[in-house]
Amino acid sequence: MAKNWYPIIDYDKCTGCFECVEFCPHGVLAKKDGKAKVVDKDACVEFCRGCQRGSCEFDAITYFNE
Ligand code: SF4
Ligand code: SF4
Repeated sequence: MAKNWYPIIDYDKCTGCFECVEFCPHGVLAKKDGKAKVVDKDACVEFCRGCQRGSCEFDAITYFNE
């Protein structure tokens, strides 16, 4: 089943702090090529917003389908 909710990172705003990678308990985000990347869309919990509200101080996270 296609996943319809997962983070989208705006790399113009992202500072590479990796707080979101540390924050998400579901392994959706990981450090890859020196950047925070979405590596497991399917593991993201629909309408969670945890990484946006709980970790990113730079307004760099929005969600697909919001
Ligand atoms: S929205 Fe929630 S489950 Fe999805 S990546 Fe962010 S913290 Fe993880
Ligand atoms: S918390 Fe925000 S600024 Fe930091 S790596 Fe994640 S998206 Fe980028």
